[in-house]
Amino acid sequence: MFYRDLSKYDYQDEDTFTDRESGFYALWYRPAYSRLNVGWLKAGKPYSTGTVPTAFVEKLKAVQQVQWMNVCLGAHECDLCPEDKAPEGNGEVRIPGEHGIAYAAPFLITHYITDHGYRPPQVFIDAVLAVDLDAWAAARWPDVPFPWIPDDAERMLQ
Ligand SMILES: [Zn+2]
Repeated sequence: MFYRDLSKYDYQDEDTFTDRESGFYALWYRPAYSRLNVGWLKAGKPYSTGTVPTAFVEKLKAVQQVQWMNVCLGAHECDLCPEDKAPEGNGEVRIPGEHGIAYAAPFLITHYITDHGYRPPQVFIDAVLAVDLDAWAAARWPDVPFPWIPDDAERMLQ
């Protein structure tokens, strides 16, 4: 899967968040916010490179510890690594940005940054640094670590 950074995300109609403790409670909805792609890299497609702040990478990893979303869609393998060494990632990441925009990144984005020198757009770096990690880590079902869950989201025990 390849998408240009900051292009409109249209991979899935709905966003689905899974409770990380139970692993099987989930909620989903059709987002009212706009989603923009970040970090969907593919071999043979150019991508921006450069150094990123360490605090940003650590925070993004910490977000991935607490937020499980779109995890039911199957694993994706890194296509930039040699086949026998390619890590797999399952799911995506949602990071709220400004003005009703959420960034939509694949789970492997941290691997792309640390192992392949990928540098995401500055707006994404800023948005990750702005996440209220304490609040996200404290969220317990039926709340999930993302601030824009609509009241009418479908919730279910899968
Ligand atoms: Zn790789």
